[in-house]
Amino acid sequence: MNELAITHVDVLGTDTIKRDATIIVNKGYITDIVDSKNTIEASETVDGKHMLAAPGLVNTHTHIAMGLLRNYADDRDLMDWLENAIWPAEAKLNNDVVYWGTRLGIAEMLRSGTTCFSDMYFFMDQTAKAVDETGIRAVLSRGLAGVSPTADQALEEQKQLFLDWNGHDNDRIKVMLGPHAPYTCPDDFLEKVIALRDELNAEIHMHLCETKGEVDNVIKATGKTPIAHMNDLGLFDNGCLAAHCVHLTDEDMNIMKEKNVRVAHNPQSNLKLASGIAPVPKLLNKGIIVGLGTDGSASNNNADMLEEVRLAAMLHKGNTYDPKVVPAATAWAMGTVEGAKALSYKDLGKLEKGYRADIVLYDVSGMHWMPRYNDLASLVYAANSSDADTVFVAGKCLMKHRELLTIDEEQLRFEMEKAQKVFE
Ligand SMILES: [Zn+2]
Repeated sequence: MNELAITHVDVLGTDTIKRDATIIVNKGYITDIVDSKNTIEASETVDGKHMLAAPGLVNTHTHIAMGLLRNYADDRDLMDWLENAIWPAEAKLNNDVVYWGTRLGIAEMLRSGTTCFSDMYFFMDQTAKAVDETGIRAVLSRGLAGVSPTADQALEEQKQLFLDWNGHDNDRIKVMLGPHAPYTCPDDFLEKVIALRDELNAEIHMHLCETKGEVDNVIKATGKTPIAHMNDLGLFDNGCLAAHCVHLTDEDMNIMKEKNVRVAHNPQSNLKLASGIAPVPKLLNKGIIVGLGTDGSASNNNADMLEEVRLAAMLHKGNTYDPKVVPAATAWAMGTVEGAKALSYKDLGKLEKGYRADIVLYDVSGMHWMPRYNDLASLVYAANSSDADTVFVAGKCLMKHRELLTIDEEQLRFEMEKAQKVFE
């Protein structure tokens, strides 16, 4: 007997759409996709009529509990925003608010079709707890700032987070090391991070080349770009997930390709903080893996990945005067399977036999879905993230017909009213 069958559903494949199919799921994986004419026995059957099944979106860069600081400070550049608004507010964080802020972010992501996220923040044991309880998939990094007086304690917490959670529940939770950025992590601290990486055989998640100011300062101090400098330190020797990568040279991109540095591209955050536009077409031409991210919900104001997919498809055409640059299928892949690769998941981000069963059923009955010449183009250019109707992670249903099954939204509203008072 199969565990789960999603019947009579249209299934978005890489190049084709399989109409009226049944997705069969066992032990967290898609074990087959067959024509719905076949009778499939399963303990749980979900009717997928009038639905389009698509892989869950993979959000490769978040500070998810920063939803607590949504609309707290806007319309500033990165350093003004961090130094004069966000860092003073973050000094007031505690276990309780991070736990509830994480649940808020997870609720927002599940409701908009995101099934996996890669987070860098503080009080990460609380984030891990919320991820474990809610059933979403996540890669967690303890944000590490070498300039902080508690830098060594943060490294200890990072190590403990790795030992406690890496590989949990068949890799539903993984852990990377999270040195924050060149401007918060001096070389001697990064050497400690690299030593811990080697001890744990971990990977690294870091903000790199986000603003021109950051790049100029590193060049002034070392004579090298941040990418060249990090490479010389050995930071990339076990692969790296680099957030932003807005300001890069051709030589930087050669190093990134050689060292398997993957990019978390955050177009909305980069635009809102006036950081610039990442050279995504060039990165893709070099064969560098590029995923998409929303960044913190304070820099970007939401955690809606479908918006990032759409923006990625639009922005780079507009920036290059070439409508063929980042076509819909490429933007969609960046939001799903390429993002999964950026997080070192080899079997995530597609609806195919053998892939992890992180599945979103989109309600395609809305007017904006018609006519249906091309569902993939509709998903990228026309869909609303609220069309996400039913969501599965590792084959477990976490949202059914827009109702979250592992999060009490009324309680969340109550806790957010309480949390707001911490920062006012
Ligand atoms: Zn960030």
